[in-house]
Amino acid sequence: MYFEPTPEQTLLRDSIRRFMAERVAPIAGQHDQARTFPFELLGELRQFGYIGGKLPEEDGGMALDYPTWAMLMEEAGYAWLSLRTMLNITNGSIARLAKDGTAEQKKRFLEPLLESKRRSFTALTEPNIGSNVAGIQTRADRRGDHYVLNGRKLWITNGAFADFGIVVARTYSPECEGGLSMFIVERDVSKYDVRPLETMVLRSTGTAELGFNDTVVPAENLLGQEGNALSKMLAGLDPARMNIAMGAVGAAQAALDLTIEYAKTRKQFGRPIGSFQLVQKHVVDMTIRVEAARALGYRAAAALERGGGARTECSIAKLYATEAAHEVAHMALQVHGAIGYSVDYPIERIFRDTRGGTIPEGTTEVQTLIVGREILGMSAIA
Ligand SMILES: Cc1cc2nc3c(=O)[nH]c(=O)nc-3n(C[C@H](O)[C@H](O)[C@H](O)COP(=O)(O)OP(=O)(O)OC[C@H]3O[C@@H](n4cnc5c(N)ncnc54)[C@H](O)[C@@H]3O)c2cc1C
Repeated sequence: MYFEPTPEQTLLRDSIRRFMAERVAPIAGQHDQARTFPFELLGELRQFGYIGGKLPEEDGGMALDYPTWAMLMEEAGYAWLSLRTMLNITNGSIARLAKDGTAEQKKRFLEPLLESKRRSFTALTEPNIGSNVAGIQTRADRRGDHYVLNGRKLWITNGAFADFGIVVARTYSPECEGGLSMFIVERDVSKYDVRPLETMVLRSTGTAELGFNDTVVPAENLLGQEGNALSKMLAGLDPARMNIAMGAVGAAQAALDLTIEYAKTRKQFGRPIGSFQLVQKHVVDMTIRVEAARALGYRAAAALERGGGARTECSIAKLYATEAAHEVAHMALQVHGAIGYSVDYPIERIFRDTRGGTIPEGTTEVQTLIVGREILGMSAIA
């Protein structure tokens, strides 16, 4: 599927590119090294639709379609993958609150998120539970007007910076014995431990481990019905996979552009290195991967927009684009020689960050099993 932007999308993309070049590119490296995130950018990015832009206009959004959203994710990935990740996490909470929040919850949590006055996370993964989310062990026991949470959550994006988040836990109550439920947990109300984690990838995304030890959460912070979290979370996975695929496409395009520029200007043996056949092979292999990943990403966006199911398209796009982006970054680093390793040059960061796409939102192996199940009608997943 070839994506031909409309005149409106082209205008939007041009303004985003100007903003990213002026405001994001100059600071991404510093923040990555300091493991900090410039939250003030989120408020400014709202004008382009980056914060809640998919919501209907009456809910504070812009009613953006999926192909436009895919374009936004591609541009964010081009500029900085940590930024794309933080936008994804924020919009994940926005979508969940808009769909399942009560009027009171929307006022307290959704509105300030849209105005970038609060910061949020979504916590499913645990020390013993990764791909198998249905096995979540963190428990929430109802005690009168509140729940008591016990368990640990791991690799939580924005967990270190956020002041609240959506925590998925197993509910035990007379109404619901052992189903998964979502809770809005506020850091200054419910008290939980936050341990920032230093990871190789996406260093500005505030990754943390969260500990809940008899953490008291008011009953009115239950999000949606008890026991319905798993189906809600699984339903949100297809758009999330398209998002991460398009971020990977953007990052791969950034690595390719830097490589083309470098291959034209760097000289060895009296000639630009781009004139050597083996360097051209790298550039062509990179270009094919970027084009293929982009086509699959926009195909997934079109399938989401059509409705009626986009599981296969989103899983194929996620699998291919995230793997391809890291292969492209690997070749980009090779063409740059030693300068590619320098922390003062973006290739090093893109190389690390593109490695961060093949594991979250379902690993490459899990995507393979999903697509295999869709094609063959037989499940290899437990
Ligand atoms: C950058 C990043 C951000 C993240 N952000 C969040 C977040 O905000 N919130 C959150 O809740 N979690 C988050 N995670 C966690 C992420 O969701 C998990 O890492 C992911 O679900 C995989 O779980 P795991 O790492 O425990 O690996 P495991 O599930 O233990 O898998 C280990 C290996 O076994 C393979 N494997 C597992 N099951 C099968 C199977 N059935 N068949 C074949 N192979 C299999 C996997 O593919 C993988 O190669 C994040 C992770 C990363 C890397």
